[in-house]
Amino acid sequence: MKEHAAEIFRELGGEVLSGYPAIHSPVFRTASGTPYLRAPGVVMVAKPQTNLEGLAGFLEGFDAGLGFTQYVRDPIRLPDSSQLCKSAGQICYMSFGPRRTKNDNAAGYFERLVSSGHGSVLEHANFSFLLYGISRSTTHELVRHRAGVGFSQVSQRYVSGNVLRFVERPEYRQDDELHRLFEERIDRARREYEELAERLIGLQSEGDAALSADYRTDARKKVQQTARSLLPNETEAPMIFTGNVRALRHIIEMRADAHAESEIRALAVRLFLCLVISDPILFGDYEISELPDGSHTVSTPYRKA
Ligand SMILES: Cc1cc2nc3c(=O)[nH]c(=O)nc-3n(C[C@H](O)[C@H](O)[C@H](O)COP(=O)(O)OP(=O)(O)OC[C@H]3O[C@@H](n4cnc5c(N)ncnc54)[C@H](O)[C@@H]3O)c2cc1C
Repeated sequence: MKEHAAEIFRELGGEVLSGYPAIHSPVFRTASGTPYLRAPGVVMVAKPQTNLEGLAGFLEGFDAGLGFTQYVRDPIRLPDSSQLCKSAGQICYMSFGPRRTKNDNAAGYFERLVSSGHGSVLEHANFSFLLYGISRSTTHELVRHRAGVGFSQVSQRYVSGNVLRFVERPEYRQDDELHRLFEERIDRARREYEELAERLIGLQSEGDAALSADYRTDARKKVQQTARSLLPNETEAPMIFTGNVRALRHIIEMRADAHAESEIRALAVRLFLCLVISDPILFGDYEISELPDGSHTVSTPYRKA
């Protein structure tokens, strides 16, 4: 399965730079220059770094006959995220002696945990991602997940029309007329946004050419918070997204499901691919498969650890 996931990762343009997987998404433009994207871009920007050696002093403090000191010398090196969660699980029963589960059996260790729903040790490992090429509709769905996650999303109140981009749904890409209408619509949205912002700026600054810097920021916010009202759901809404492994597993199970909405499914599949490349053990129970339309779905027998 892991080879299959790695193959799909590469097919989707995935690459690993300095140990961080990413699936980038190219930018397209309409004839009049409005930028848009056709797929989610997912870049892992942070992952756990585990100081296993740091346990040594603690373990040396116990009776030498318990053999705890060998724990930090396991010859098999795990991904830092797996090691962190495994050590967290093993401190519960002080399982540091020779009869502990060794690292070569880490996959079986986690399978026992997730199959019995003991997922709390997975909360120690957090991953952060830059997400882009995703529409406001998709981020509206993603931010409904509350437990174990963090979001920092573009503020349409703050940024100007210069960074406006849009996202084309898969259905529009497959039909010339729908694609033409999409391009026409986003050109119009960009034009109307600029016209409205200009009109509002004119109204704001009338009679007050020397605004203070503070006031100017405030005035710009007032302009943009009004102008954004006409932006469609297909406006891009990039964010930095962080989740712990327990939360990420739940989100992948809900959103990469065959019945999930297609855009958020494309996002969840890419999140899964970056995660399984980074830690094949914590996500080793997942199967990725192809649907009749060529898109992908991810499933596991051990839902909601
Ligand atoms: C296919 C699909 C269709 C959907 N349709 C709609 C819709 O029509 N309308 C709509 O409003 N939403 C809809 N949603 C969103 C859905 O209802 C959830 O809000 C969203 O999926 C977040 O998942 P979650 O509730 O598991 O929360 P998460 O924050 O991901 O939480 C994970 C788990 O933690 C526990 N948990 C979290 N917060 C609490 C809490 N406050 N109290 C107790 N336990 C908690 C729960 O067990 C929860 O499952 C849809 C979702 C999907 C996948």
